[in-house]
Amino acid sequence: MSNPSAKAGNYYASAPYQNAFDIEYPQENLDGQMYQYRCKHCKKLTTEINGLLQNHAMDCAYRLAREGRRA
Ligand SMILES: [Zn+2]
Repeated sequence: MSNPSAKAGNYYASAPYQNAFDIEYPQENLDGQMYQYRCKHCKKLTTEINGLLQNHAMDCAYRLAREGRRA
């Protein structure tokens, strides 16, 4: 925890978390904003979602599907 590089190493070691990073949701490009993408279902920006399923909208079809599958 105190050593940043050791922490980075642990990050990969603990990666098998299925729900740690979830970036397989369908994305779409924002009109006129070349580098902005958002979830095709809930329209949240990828920068808001940040790879976390819980950052999708509560009623996001993708989130619901993933959570249903996990439960
Ligand atoms: Zn979504």
